[in-house]
Amino acid sequence: MVEWIGPRHTNFPDGSVCAYHPVLDKAWSPGDDLCVLLDIYSVWALRHLHLAVLDRWPGRQYAMLDELGQSDPYYRLTQFKEAELCSCGSNRRYGECCRPHDLKHPFLSILQAFKRRNSGRGILDRAPPGKVTASVAQSGRNAPPPISEVHDLLRAHIAGSGNLLVTRV
Ligand SMILES: [Zn+2]
Repeated sequence: MVEWIGPRHTNFPDGSVCAYHPVLDKAWSPGDDLCVLLDIYSVWALRHLHLAVLDRWPGRQYAMLDELGQSDPYYRLTQFKEAELCSCGSNRRYGECCRPHDLKHPFLSILQAFKRRNSGRGILDRAPPGKVTASVAQSGRNAPPPISEVHDLLRAHIAGSGNLLVTRV
């Protein structure tokens, strides 16, 4: 049985790995060195193992932003563990830093605000792109879909600039 490694450092809502984010990360672009991509995958998978075993992500957390450009309290409350480094840059644990402030928000209102900003989608809707999941479930009988077909942000970026070389990975 194939299982998704997990949602940390994946894009919302399609669950694609953050390394592909064409604006924020620029860690890897289609056509770049595949060894670099494999290194990114390996470190990401190892960090998920760290989370599974030690119950906290190694390193600072990053949160989606709210309408004011601040870390979204709903995102932090549902995604961060108390022992993880806070997203505000304080070098303190989330539980001892911004979590008490986040808890002061009425939960339903921050949930609804999050869904309003994200086309009615909740954080639990995040999952790998369906075409990728289907390809994996076929156990390699089908070629994986081109990244431009499954990555919403990259596709939008390509449509906007038109100057990225897209290859199969
Ligand atoms: Zn903080």
